Amino acid sequence: MEEWAVGVDLGRTKIALGLIDPQKRIVRHRRLPTNADAGAQSVVERIAQSVDELRHELPATARICGLGICTPGPVDHETGVVGEVHEMRGLHHAPLRAMLADRLGLPVSLDHDAKAAALGEYHYGAGRGEPAMVYVVVGTGVGAAIVVDGQVYRGVRNTAGEIGHITLNRDGALCPCGSRGCVETYTSGPWLARRYQHRCERAGIVETATAPATGESVTARARQGDPIALQVLYEAGQALGVAVASVAMILDIELFVVGGSVAKAGDLLLAPARRTLLEYSYRSVGTRVRILASEMGEDAPILGCGWMACERRP
Ligand SMILES: [Zn+2]
Repeated sequence: MEEWAVGVDLGRTKIALGLIDPQKRIVRHRRLPTNADAGAQSVVERIAQSVDELRHELPATARICGLGICTPGPVDHETGVVGEVHEMRGLHHAPLRAMLADRLGLPVSLDHDAKAAALGEYHYGAGRGEPAMVYVVVGTGVGAAIVVDGQVYRGVRNTAGEIGHITLNRDGALCPCGSRGCVETYTSGPWLARRYQHRCERAGIVETATAPATGESVTARARQGDPIALQVLYEAGQALGVAVASVAMILDIELFVVGGSVAKAGDLLLAPARRTLLEYSYRSVGTRVRILASEMGEDAPILGCGWMACERRP
């Protein structure tokens, strides 16, 4: 029998499912609203119905070997229980792995979405064939998952990878984490928007009614040549470059893959990061390090979930 897998990326607003064939291609996609307020039982039942539909599309020679699912953090991959994820109150403390396994009669893996995306990118995307990789997510926040020898490095209490809270400026802006001048206060979507708005006000540009509220809108303005948006994004890239330099110096890892909504800015973010990396690391280290955009994009977490379900060594 051929072994197929199902990967499920459970986000705050939508659930993306993928049916993955033995060549690791996602041959069917399904999308449904998360609606976490309806409770864990409802979420599990809706996922299970989609999986049942996907099962009907399998060739006769195929079977589903398992399902992997990822959620925003916190999540306990060992017990399979979702933590108190922001804006997903209906799933707090839900034993999602056991509920899905019972309903579907399949082995189920549960992990954090950034870690799943890192595993997808490492095994099937930009990280193929590499000894190690750091996957950096730049979106609402900034986080990273460190992959070594095909497995996620978790640290003692599974909190490794907080690259967004490396301090760049001890006297910088107060970060929600309690520290100051963190990478995240330069690079994340909300902070890009905040910095952009602040610069516009300082420059006497009054356009509060149309001011961008998100990192995406700052990126869009940068693409149109808005000089303030370009400057803010350039500084975000520099912050990312310093962070990559610091991590590369400590871990001796040569590949950094950047995903997440702000990473859609592409070279507007990554080109200054690459230049800055060289200024803040040993030349012998910095010249070996590559900073690449994610290849798999939104498919990365789904493929990573499929890998967790069927390929991961115990
Ligand atoms: Zn912080």
